[in-house]
Amino acid sequence: MTGAITTVRTVKDLRAHLATWRKSGETVALVPTMGALHEGHLSLVALAGTKADRVVVSIFVNPIQFGPREDFKTYPRDEAGDLVKLIKAGTHLVYAPDMAGIYPKGFTTHVRVGDLTEDLCGSARPNHFEGVATVVTKLLLQCAPDLAVFGEKDYQQLLVIKRLVRDLDLQVEIVGGEIVREGDGLALSSRNGYLSPAERKVAPLLYHTIHEVAAALAQGAGADTASEAGRFKLEAAGFRVDYVAVRDPETLARLSGPVKQARVLAAVHLGKTRLIDNVPVPLPASTNR
Ligand code: AMP
Repeated sequence: MTGAITTVRTVKDLRAHLATWRKSGETVALVPTMGALHEGHLSLVALAGTKADRVVVSIFVNPIQFGPREDFKTYPRDEAGDLVKLIKAGTHLVYAPDMAGIYPKGFTTHVRVGDLTEDLCGSARPNHFEGVATVVTKLLLQCAPDLAVFGEKDYQQLLVIKRLVRDLDLQVEIVGGEIVREGDGLALSSRNGYLSPAERKVAPLLYHTIHEVAAALAQGAGADTASEAGRFKLEAAGFRVDYVAVRDPETLARLSGPVKQARVLAAVHLGKTRLIDNVPVPLPASTNR
């Protein structure tokens, strides 16, 4: 598809567009993003397009999910570039609210999901998931889509969102999209641009290491032994490791000893860049080298 794309900036205009589609019986999918779009985001748009008549993409850099020493101010923003990519990807409407459209003066309501948010990225980034849960709840209520698509790249986030939708009886189906990677294995991320050329060369080791951990688990290695080996390898290569963890894929409960079904998740720092990644156990046949 080529041509223009409509961008709405208020919930009123968003709902006016949605009402015309709803009137003609069309279904709607929402893909929430923070912009600086790459092929990973666009794969979610494509997936959304296979499941609904209309695809809405939201672009909003959510301040309350960033810690005080994190990169909210410097987070990449390129709305003009994003719109060009979204037209090509088959988006029907872009929702790019301003700050007051999400957090009006006096805003004081937050959504906190327990349990799932207590460790992994939840310990490394206090309040992060509360910020995510709050903005996602708000976007889902503003848009009221039939389904919303999120990436498995942020695996813990995907489970948190599924849980809040279940707990609050929101009428929306949450769909997970597979991780899109560079040819050398590095998961695409809007933050990869922070990496120096030397760091960019080392960065794919994150994926290769968790892939090795998953392969070892599939061959019967214990969860603790395999994750410790992964941590050691990453630290030896110069990464500062937040965690390498082997968890239940549905509940994120800790696993130890041999496992049949699991998710290997890791978060590391490389210079000033924080990277996260994850793979399933068993590994998909295509990557089972
Ligand atoms: P963000 O703009 O970083 O908030 O991401 C918006 C959505 O894109 C989230 O659901 C992410 O999980 C998803 N996403 C980010 N990177 C990737 C990737 N490499 N592959 C697939 N989905 C991704």
